[in-house]
Amino acid sequence: MKRVLITGAAGFLGSHLCDRFIADGFDVIGMDNLLTGNLQNIEHLFQHERFTFYHHDVSKFVFVPGNLDYILHFASPASPIDYLQMPIQTLKVGSLGTHNLLGLALAKNARILVASTSEVYGDPLVHPQKEEYWGNVNPVGPRGVYDEAKRFQESITMAYHTYHKLETRIVRIFNTYGPRMRLNDGRVLPAFISQAIRKEPLSVFGDGTQTRSFCYVDDLVEGIVRLLHSDYSGPVNIGNPEEITINQFAEEILKITHSDSPIKFHPLPVDDPKQRKPDISLAQSLFHWEPKVNREEGLRRTLQYFSQQIQDHS
Ligand code: UDP
Repeated sequence: MKRVLITGAAGFLGSHLCDRFIADGFDVIGMDNLLTGNLQNIEHLFQHERFTFYHHDVSKFVFVPGNLDYILHFASPASPIDYLQMPIQTLKVGSLGTHNLLGLALAKNARILVASTSEVYGDPLVHPQKEEYWGNVNPVGPRGVYDEAKRFQESITMAYHTYHKLETRIVRIFNTYGPRMRLNDGRVLPAFISQAIRKEPLSVFGDGTQTRSFCYVDDLVEGIVRLLHSDYSGPVNIGNPEEITINQFAEEILKITHSDSPIKFHPLPVDDPKQRKPDISLAQSLFHWEPKVNREEGLRRTLQYFSQQIQDHS
């Protein structure tokens, strides 16, 4: 039986990956320090005989007994609010944490996939973003702690690949949404949905003309699994290329929640990217991946989850 270690297992993406690898017949070891993760996301797996959980911070030496076939490194604060509040932990998990896991992969002869991000492109001057674009990042701005940690992560992962011949994979994840996102993580989707349901004004930052491209979590997980099993070691964009403005997004959320909340404009956060859209032609040509769930369907599924969460917490 194949064994996989998933870090950030109690988080949004990590928990969905745990589900997927359990469903695919793997032995899954989930690891999380619960800084931003929530055990409720993986509570249902604790009964499963092929699931084990380690409460551990991967920025410290990581020990896992027995063999390992794969490591998926998904531990990190990942929303702008989170990494502004936890800048040092964010830098450490992307740098020291990645180093520890690369060392573990080498010791176990395991293939490692690391979670990078569209933030490596910063506030991009090239649109849509292709993997060859090097980005436009402010290292000392508020987002620098996340962007530079992830850029270092990519760099050290490539170094282990070229120097140690380690099997490595790098996924650049664009904005993703779905059930198990944290209601109060400050990201635009949970913020708008909870404001709309509570009949509060929707908080649009800037003038709302900045763009994002939102990918449903199931599509992202499928892309990651295909990348892991591919033989390509360079970075690969995974995201949904359907681009919208934040104003349009606010209108869509009002519509699906049947809310008449007004829109309230707030100052744009420092270094907030003006546009973001993945070029996914590399993923398409390498392993025939493209997203399948459109926003209407994805938002419907996500709304169900958040409605329940809001009911439980009110
Ligand atoms: N945003 C907004 N209102 C909010 C939260 C975010 O208008 O309450 C904007 C934010 O300024 C950004 C976009 O929505 O332009 C996406 O923000 P998010 O934090 O979800 O992710 P990012 O893509 O910036 O990492």
